[in-house]
Amino acid sequence: MSNIMENQEFAILVVDDAPENVMLLSLILKDLGSVSSALSGREAIDKALENPPDLILLDIQMPELDGYDVIKALKNDPRTENVPVIFVTGLSDDGDEEKGLKLGAIDYITKPYKPTVVTARVRNHLRLREYAVRLEHMNVELERLATTDALTSAFNRRYFMSKLEDEVERVRRYKHPSSLLMIDVDHFKRINDTYGHDVGDIVLVHLVKLLEDQVRQLDTVARIGGEEFAILLPETSKKEAVVSAERLLGIVRAASIEAAGDNLQFTISIGCTEFGAECPKVEGILKTADLALYDAKKSGRDRVVVGDASELV
Ligand code: GH3
Ligand code: MG
Ligand code: MG
Repeated sequence: MSNIMENQEFAILVVDDAPENVMLLSLILKDLGSVSSALSGREAIDKALENPPDLILLDIQMPELDGYDVIKALKNDPRTENVPVIFVTGLSDDGDEEKGLKLGAIDYITKPYKPTVVTARVRNHLRLREYAVRLEHMNVELERLATTDALTSAFNRRYFMSKLEDEVERVRRYKHPSSLLMIDVDHFKRINDTYGHDVGDIVLVHLVKLLEDQVRQLDTVARIGGEEFAILLPETSKKEAVVSAERLLGIVRAASIEAAGDNLQFTISIGCTEFGAECPKVEGILKTADLALYDAKKSGRDRVVVGDASELV
């Protein structure tokens, strides 16, 4: 995002029960963004919640809901709590100003005002708003980069481990079992050797899509390393997990990827383990799933083997 000021119009909401005040402010601010208006506190709240603006200019003295009521409602709702509010009011008492600012207003302009000063203040607040929004986007992006794998966009190992730690704690408390699937692509080296590393990469990306399409919203698919993946299935017994694993095996078996004029097909092997209230530590759960995966490989691949984590308690 570069400069919102130039690329994208700000949405400004002007709230005043006197239409002439709304008109005047709209005229003053028309070059700074797209201005909409509300003639009552109720209308202001409804409009702001439906489509949160970038800035609100809010009158205080209005019948029924006054400006203080409006700002309280806006600050109490996650959709609007971060929308900056400037009071524009005939109340010029220091106490009123203090009250307005304490309720979370970013500025307080008293009538009569100089239009140029209002414009300058609004412009400053819009710039701050722009930085805040940009920072928020950057934080979301940083969070994404820190938790996902660059090739497949699946969650990364670090994220998965912390998720698994949390899940082990949760399971101890609520005593319902959850399950873990460890997945490894069969003979992946052959795919690389036959079709090249790039096609190998495509297979991994494709596999993640297949897995993510199949799992439930609450399940976590992660790339643990190389061609190894894990799926955390909360609130899932090993019986249910095996049904899911069998379904995944079938989906992957049936999938084909076009590569170098060929229809490339591949399979996966899965190690499965359940962990309940009496479960061992995270390392034990991972080790059990790994051993089960190893057994699946040894006994012919393209299958799921269940390991018993409680034996490691
Ligand atoms: P198995 O059925 O026993 O799992 O055999 P395999 O060939 O899949 O297992 P092996 O561990 O021998 O080989 C895994 C290969 O995966 C070796 C490595 O070069 C390759 N690999 C690891 N990460 C990537 C990657 O990001 N992209 C590609 N294309 N290959 C990768
Ligand atoms: Mg492999
Ligand atoms: Mg491997």
